[in-house]
Amino acid sequence: MDYAENILGTIGNTPMVKMNKIVEDIDALVLAKYETFNPGNSVKDRMAVKMVEDAEAKGLLKPGGTIIEGTSGNTGMGLALAAIVKGYKMICVMSDKQSKEKMDILRAVGSEVVVCPTDVEPDDPQSYYSTSRRLAEETPNSWYVNQYDNLANREAHYESTGPEIWKQTDGKVTHFVVGVGTGGTISGVGKYLKEKNPDIKVWGIDTYGSVFKKYHETGEFDEKEIYPYVTEGIGEDILPKNVDFDVIDGFTKVTDKDAAVYTQKLSKEEGFFLGNSAGAAVKGLLQLKEHFTKDDVVVVLFHDHGSRYVGKMYNDDWMRKMGYID
Ligand code: PMP
Repeated sequence: MDYAENILGTIGNTPMVKMNKIVEDIDALVLAKYETFNPGNSVKDRMAVKMVEDAEAKGLLKPGGTIIEGTSGNTGMGLALAAIVKGYKMICVMSDKQSKEKMDILRAVGSEVVVCPTDVEPDDPQSYYSTSRRLAEETPNSWYVNQYDNLANREAHYESTGPEIWKQTDGKVTHFVVGVGTGGTISGVGKYLKEKNPDIKVWGIDTYGSVFKKYHETGEFDEKEIYPYVTEGIGEDILPKNVDFDVIDGFTKVTDKDAAVYTQKLSKEEGFFLGNSAGAAVKGLLQLKEHFTKDDVVVVLFHDHGSRYVGKMYNDDWMRKMGYID
């Protein structure tokens, strides 16, 4: 018999899929690491379980405890699955720009959802960073995950996502392209791949309204870079501890419009029904095309599933209202 002990046993070992039409201007072989095959439909299942197990091992999370996290949805889903299997309660704190589908999905897997305003400073008491911390202080026997600074996040990718990419490409990968939010994916995968072959180039996809690109290039945390944006899951107005800038060779920024338009294109041209950060990642990859030659193997990682965006990037009324299509 061949079965997993529980749903957490199905995390990882996701497929790698060749991209065709949408990257036809690129000479290199472009492969998608297709993370929606995880049980929570995103890459974040990997780090969620790793962070929970790390907290259990350190005695931070005790039987019957409550897990609290500020999350754009995907980490919350992974944590909710771990909470169900391991017997914890789960509270997700989200900003109000996140799609309603993401909130409904989290409630469907038994999580309590607390919604906070987006347009406030990170240190404002109403922000989702401050609210998560306050709830953690007020709730007995709780553990605040803090995926931004909890280094078990990037370790999960160093231990699983990185080795899978190396194995699936037979060690031939030359470039890794990925959206950056907490930085866990790029830093863990990037570190693993560069230890295997220091010549591999690691590219981060950033948004307009986020600090990463400028900080990487100048070392300056420039508050003028920070303003509200639409793209979900990537870009930050803080510098999370999980971002290891030393393993990143460069960033490119993608506009909200391009991210949305390319999310639709991925679906219509490749049959890849993916989330908004996948559109940003593939547009960013096209912006980087001068760095790729015909012998290169470029791996782009797609974080999450399109079902969470049906009311937005997959809704033409929404796309028109935003001015992204005519
Ligand atoms: N895309 C989506 C949809 C995400 O939820 C996240 C996580 N915030 C990312 C990209 C970025 O991944 P990471 O946090 O590992 O940098």
